Amino acid sequence: MQRPITGFGHDEQGDPIAILSCGHPQHVRHNPPFINRPWVTTEQGRSSMLGTALNCVRCDGFELPDGFVSYKQTPVFTEETIPAGLKKDHSTKTGVWAKIIVIQGRLRYRVAALGTDMELSQDKLGIVVPEVLHSVEPLGMVRFLVEFYKKPD
Ligand SMILES: [Zn+2]
Repeated sequence: MQRPITGFGHDEQGDPIAILSCGHPQHVRHNPPFINRPWVTTEQGRSSMLGTALNCVRCDGFELPDGFVSYKQTPVFTEETIPAGLKKDHSTKTGVWAKIIVIQGRLRYRVAALGTDMELSQDKLGIVVPEVLHSVEPLGMVRFLVEFYKKPD
């Protein structure tokens, strides 16, 4: 999915990377004549690219960014105490990821934009991708919680 560039950095080899709003890094090498991104070589050029969207396949793959930390979790919900809002399409804010952790039973997890409709259980947790609409639905008796993740301060 398309994610705007929010900053720049380097990987361990010194190759330039763009940081996207989701928290994922993406290589933006300038390696002529194969890859031409002369803008990445100057501060001014990089600044001019802030906000430009790149396609993030790691988001499409439900990949929680490396190094993100848990900062909050919900109480344990059951099929009776689940907030109505979780059963309708809703989403987290920019840069906020979450894990849906099932303690007992089964929960249906739907993410229409990513073509996903799966059953979560003790053995299968759900990853919530920032800003992407999703919903859950208890499949009988269930106990689960949601743990939120963001970039470390
Ligand atoms: Zn991403």
